[in-house]
Amino acid sequence: MESLYRSYAHHLRQTYGHAVYRIGIDAHFSCPNRLADGSGGCAFCDGTGSASTYLRQHESRFMHDSAYQKEMSEQLGRKPLELERRIELIERQVKRGKQFIRSRYRSDFFSLYYQAYTNTYDPVDVLKALYDAGLEHGPFVELIVSTRADCIDEEVVALLASYLTRVKRVWVELGLQTSDEQSLSLLGRNDSVERYISAVNSLHSAGIGVCTHVILGLPGEGKDAFMHTALLLNQVKSEAVKIHNLHVCGGTRLEGWYRQGEVSVASMRRHVEQSIHFLRFLNPSMVIERMMCETPSHRLVSPRHFADKHQFLEAVRCEMSEHGYRQGDRYAR
Ligand code: SF4
Repeated sequence: MESLYRSYAHHLRQTYGHAVYRIGIDAHFSCPNRLADGSGGCAFCDGTGSASTYLRQHESRFMHDSAYQKEMSEQLGRKPLELERRIELIERQVKRGKQFIRSRYRSDFFSLYYQAYTNTYDPVDVLKALYDAGLEHGPFVELIVSTRADCIDEEVVALLASYLTRVKRVWVELGLQTSDEQSLSLLGRNDSVERYISAVNSLHSAGIGVCTHVILGLPGEGKDAFMHTALLLNQVKSEAVKIHNLHVCGGTRLEGWYRQGEVSVASMRRHVEQSIHFLRFLNPSMVIERMMCETPSHRLVSPRHFADKHQFLEAVRCEMSEHGYRQGDRYAR
């Protein structure tokens, strides 16, 4: 089963001999792609900054079509917090994350994952204080920091590399989404492929691993575009990838396009096909950290009826086995 593609769980077991669990942190960063009042941003982003649902516990009271979207639009311009308060929040999240992992998985192997919003978007002394605040409550196997390519510079790279003495591996997760500049511009990413390549090179030269986020099924993109994105990831030697199916969150510009009939989203069947197509062009050593979005239903406009993760992965595996496909079987060195 594992030989069909290189799953994240398999990679962790192979590297460390056991599972490792992430503690996701919302350190109250903001986003360089939104104005202070919350306007702007990427067309698909509802302003939650990719924070896990468990980091957004107040959402548990929302059902679909509830007051959630109104509350989100009021929250879009996050007010800055004092550094002390942010440190306090980090410590609380680490403690809660550890308790949860210990009780659910009976494990003491944690990675610290700065997940929400743009986690290198602050002066470097503030970044250091925020990363130190989490790492102090280690040991952690890995430090993982999610950000944008335009928020990676020499100082940030040097700071991240300095943690290689405290954890086994430092990773940066970079949102690329697509290798097509026109799509990036349509999405309002205000970032570029060139900056992505340069950020990956700087991180690699400091010994930091890169996981790239991509979206399959963006408006106007088909199998050729997916292949070009896969080839770019191979070219820069991204060590890992998170694949997302295009999905429409409430309150986004994408929602407007969707309601006007300008954009459609893939069914599970189509996302299985496009994911396999993408996987076949990837370097077989690249780790597949994710293959679909798991946005909670109260935030989703479409697709409303998509398989859960286990059904989806099972469908991918069946289809790959049936046709004899493997990750990288169309990869050319
Ligand atoms: S950069 Fe990230 S947080 Fe900012 S608007 Fe885009 S997806 Fe949202």
